[in-house]
Amino acid sequence: MSGNKIIIQDRQQQQITTYVIYRETGRIFVPAAASNRHVHLTTATLERLFGPGYQLTPIKDLSQPGQYAAAETVTVAGPKGELKKVRVLGPVRKEDQVEISRTDSFQLGVKPVVRMSGDVAGTPGCRLIGPVGEAELPQGVIVAARHLHLSKEQCETYGLHDGEVIALRSAGERSAVLENVVVRSGPGHDMEVHLDTDEANAMAMPNGEMLEVIR
Ligand SMILES: [Zn+2]
Repeated sequence: MSGNKIIIQDRQQQQITTYVIYRETGRIFVPAAASNRHVHLTTATLERLFGPGYQLTPIKDLSQPGQYAAAETVTVAGPKGELKKVRVLGPVRKEDQVEISRTDSFQLGVKPVVRMSGDVAGTPGCRLIGPVGEAELPQGVIVAARHLHLSKEQCETYGLHDGEVIALRSAGERSAVLENVVVRSGPGHDMEVHLDTDEANAMAMPNGEMLEVIR
């Protein structure tokens, strides 16, 4: 039985807590959040689904600087079924990407392929349905690999580096160790672990749980 969960919602408090625990104990605890299913669209796909010249409507900033949840949603369709009201995240990207859980993949009837964001070559495709039109994606459906975002400064502070593979331990009744967590660092990254809803639910993890880094 491991100890109680440390849960902190406020982003600034999360970072202060990480620093204070590290300074006092040498242990690294990082805040985690579950990413619900979502899509990233190219300008071309956005216009096909929503109309020529269409611009996304930002409604909520995400933890990673410059990234936002948009008001727009789409339907994701596969050979076996579909997922409705899937959130579009902005800004637009160079490649279409649909991030789903393994559970979602069974509902769609697509093969669950675990990939880092941006690595979509050879992944399954799907059909996207918007209010104005549809788009057939030849690839881009992934189950996102678990990862830890860190800024360059945070990497230096905690002695971690971009591309490093670590493990994370959660606490509480359903505590677990997650292996194969990839550190992603560079411009546009800020401290947060991203898991999918299957992983978070398996550990009964609320957003803001501080997970311990194991190396
Ligand atoms: Zn992420």
